Amino acid sequence: MAARSPTVDVAILGAGIAGAACAYHLARRNAGSIVLYDPRTPAAGATGRAAGIVTDQLWDRWDVEVAQSSDRQYEALCRRHDPSAYARNGFVRWTANPIAAEAIDAARARLRSWGVSVERVDRAGLERRFPWGRFEDVVGAIAGDRDAVVTPSTIAALYLKEAEPLGVETWFGAPAAVRRDGAGVALRGAGRELHARTTIVAAGAWSKALLASLGAPRPLVPYRVQAATLRPPPGTPALFASGHDIDTDVYFRPEGAGRILAGDGTERVEADPDRFVPVGDATFLENLAESFRTRLPGWESSEMIRAWAGVCTSTPDRRPLVGALDPAIGLYTITGFNGFGVMRAGGAAERLVDRILQGPGGAAEEHLRSVDPRRFPAGTEARIPRPGFTLEGGDDPRF
Ligand SMILES: Cc1cc2nc3c(=O)[nH]c(=O)nc-3n(C[C@H](O)[C@H](O)[C@H](O)COP(=O)(O)OP(=O)(O)OC[C@H]3O[C@@H](n4cnc5c(N)ncnc54)[C@H](O)[C@@H]3O)c2cc1C
Repeated sequence: MAARSPTVDVAILGAGIAGAACAYHLARRNAGSIVLYDPRTPAAGATGRAAGIVTDQLWDRWDVEVAQSSDRQYEALCRRHDPSAYARNGFVRWTANPIAAEAIDAARARLRSWGVSVERVDRAGLERRFPWGRFEDVVGAIAGDRDAVVTPSTIAALYLKEAEPLGVETWFGAPAAVRRDGAGVALRGAGRELHARTTIVAAGAWSKALLASLGAPRPLVPYRVQAATLRPPPGTPALFASGHDIDTDVYFRPEGAGRILAGDGTERVEADPDRFVPVGDATFLENLAESFRTRLPGWESSEMIRAWAGVCTSTPDRRPLVGALDPAIGLYTITGFNGFGVMRAGGAAERLVDRILQGPGGAAEEHLRSVDPRRFPAGTEARIPRPGFTLEGGDDPRF
């Protein structure tokens, strides 16, 4: 008779920032035996391709609290191990569209009521922050000074650096086979096998297929997002606020070593995370150039260093899926971040671990109500993703 695979308390599938943060929080809470599995390497998915902007200028109180908690975790991890991976630089967004300006103002009032420190900024305030910009026609802008930029792959690595000495086993390599197995899940990957009492699917854009294979399909849509690093002309300071031009949906951040990183929202078609075009395309680069020409002319002659794409995961209501999915096999998930997973992963993982350890019916479950993975009735159609850095919540933001 074949020997039964070893049983572990928790298997985490995916070593992006979300899976790594789960491993860290579980280990710190002595959650038993924990295996983190990824067929690739840590941060091989969207995490290793992300811009790393961490802002609490988000859509509702849950997002704000989770982003603030992520920010505290990342700052502390980097302070302990790698201060170069974290900088508090602020975040500014602006528009020349009067209707979007009203939306900015409403967002500012909403954010302030949740304790987010954001201020209205006038033209002089924008020019002071970005002396190479041109803001004559801007009619609305807000800025926060608490926002940060991080190196997302470093954050994932630091979570693992602290989780491994606490007993988390990491398995990397060889595609996984997962299946329902009695009251848990069986996993075969990296040449090994296990049976898990609790399983967390934290597989980013791969979560759609993985959850479906475990009999728990969710209406997720993987989609492509692009970014580029550029070398601006001499004179750009090493550290400046991250910015978002609402009218072109282009955002940028300082990247260190005389570089900037810029990106734009969302490609509104489904992508296959195993077969997407990993380099930036001409339309993206033209949109970037156009945004710089009109708004940041001092950067027009920036030299392109590298342009790339990554795959994010959307949900029909643009809220992530964090929580219990199928209690019969101990299945949980943390995915569907709609392009904002770096800034929310640490805080969301901490809340998910609270929920796993507390069980159903308590305050931890209540904290995850708005992101409950079971909230979509069976048969809910997956929807094409919405634009990225929006000001408004809901499933159909105008800006
Ligand atoms: C260009 C770009 C810019 C971005 N900028 C920002 C930003 O500024 N701020 C922000 O907050 N977010 C940003 N994002 C979004 C952010 O990158 C994601 O939301 C976040 O990284 C998702 O993390 P994750 O751990 O859920 O998924 P991922 O990082 O995609 O990790 C999933 C992991 O699962 C693994 N996996 C696949 N199949 C399996 C399997 N069968 N079993 C186990 N593991 C599996 C993969 O190998 C991968 O390592 C950006 C994304 C892109 C592409």
